[in-house]
Amino acid sequence: MREGFGTEIASARHRLIYFAIAAGLCAVCLLTFFRADLPLNQLPAFIPAYISAVIVTELITAYLLFAHAPLSRRFDLLWLGGAYLFSSALAIGQLTVFPGVLASHGLFGAGPQSAVWLWVLWHGGFPALIVAAMILRQREARGARPFLRLGRLRFIRPQRIHAAFMIGCIITLAILCEMLVTRFQAVLPPLIHGRSYADLMHSAPGRIVLALNLVALALVLRVTRCRSLLDLGLGIAVLASTVDAILTLKAGARFSLGWYMARVGSVISAVSVLIVFLREVTLLHARVIRLNERLAEQAAIDVTTELFNRRHFNRQLHVALRDAARRQEPTGLLLIDVDHFKLFNDHYGHLAGDDCLHQVAQAIAAAIRRPTDVAARYGGEEFAVILPGTGLDGTQHLAQRVLAGVRDLGLGHMASPTAATVTVSIGVGTAAPGARFEDLIRAADGALYSAKRAGRNRVAAA
Ligand code: GH3
Ligand code: MG
Ligand code: MG
Repeated sequence: MREGFGTEIASARHRLIYFAIAAGLCAVCLLTFFRADLPLNQLPAFIPAYISAVIVTELITAYLLFAHAPLSRRFDLLWLGGAYLFSSALAIGQLTVFPGVLASHGLFGAGPQSAVWLWVLWHGGFPALIVAAMILRQREARGARPFLRLGRLRFIRPQRIHAAFMIGCIITLAILCEMLVTRFQAVLPPLIHGRSYADLMHSAPGRIVLALNLVALALVLRVTRCRSLLDLGLGIAVLASTVDAILTLKAGARFSLGWYMARVGSVISAVSVLIVFLREVTLLHARVIRLNERLAEQAAIDVTTELFNRRHFNRQLHVALRDAARRQEPTGLLLIDVDHFKLFNDHYGHLAGDDCLHQVAQAIAAAIRRPTDVAARYGGEEFAVILPGTGLDGTQHLAQRVLAGVRDLGLGHMASPTAATVTVSIGVGTAAPGARFEDLIRAADGALYSAKRAGRNRVAAA
């Protein structure tokens, strides 16, 4: 499976939290079940409030699923998006046909049966689409390619076309459902009498809704095995939808205890996948920040010596010179070159050469003290140290410390014609405030050559 939304593996802690939520949902369902028909206060504002919450969260969830399905090439996410789009579309339909919400008998010629029948289509359609998503996921896991491929039309992205096609189909289906329960309501058997819809529980539509929810729940558990965070969120969504169906059917009347609790279940069902998405986005953001920090660090470090690299050196020297001009301070620079290093390589081999460079680098790093000083690998067996705010005396003093530090490593160099151990030559340069980058480098470089010419293993100043 490619990376993307829904691939964050659930930890044991995540599982525990979600199983606790599931257990809580089941407990509430059980506690409410036997008093589900208890009539409560009729709160007309409750309906637009809960439906609005469902519409907004499900539309956002659907959008995110449609946006991510093409990215992660997971068509099961497309169908999940379809399920949420369908659910939110029928929730909008419910707002229009529910008596007393937008019009006393509902809009578009709605009748007394419209809202209950739309509920049946809504709560049957959502799990049916989840079932489709699960079947597809199983097929995808087996490596099947269940979707049409658009051959060589490279400028068309098949996944995007599938998403557009799915959205079109779902909206058409929702409009047909709305038309069926309004214009063609006469063909639908009556399920509600006044506030009571007790017949629904024993009718075929009621049983089908319940069965679809149970099948969806079983399939989600079986196919996903609650592996990812998304699987857990989806499990809760379908469980809450099942609780919604059970309590709605058992309540048998609007504005009863079971009916109110079922609506709460409906909201939980709507938000749980969105919560998972937000959690994944947060985790992803944290990971991106960590990776960026590591990348920035790696981009500035030389692998062999673990000092800063040339790119970082160049940047830092520019910064140091600008700062020095502002503060009217000098800037010191050391250019350090390992003596007869070619001979060292020839004699001991390149691996030993690398190890030697690493040790010399560590000796240089140990010699500098101020946090603003920068030691870097300049290239090959050459190093550079920037000493901001340091004049000629200070720079020379530091150069002597580096020289002694390397000499004290005592790394044997049998092939060297000038010393028995590895030594360095150091060119010291200092820049007056306002000096240019190139001038300072040139000065230190000239001094380095003087040190080499004068016999190596020494410091020379420009
Ligand atoms: P001098 O005292 O005049 O500086 O002599 P030198 O041999 O050190 O100078 P030269 O520039 O001729 O040789 C530098 C050598 O450094 C050449 C190359 O084999 C070695 N070198 C450069 N980079 C690396 C590296 O990353 N690893 C190893 N092992 N050797 C390197
Ligand atoms: Mg060299
Ligand atoms: Mg050298």
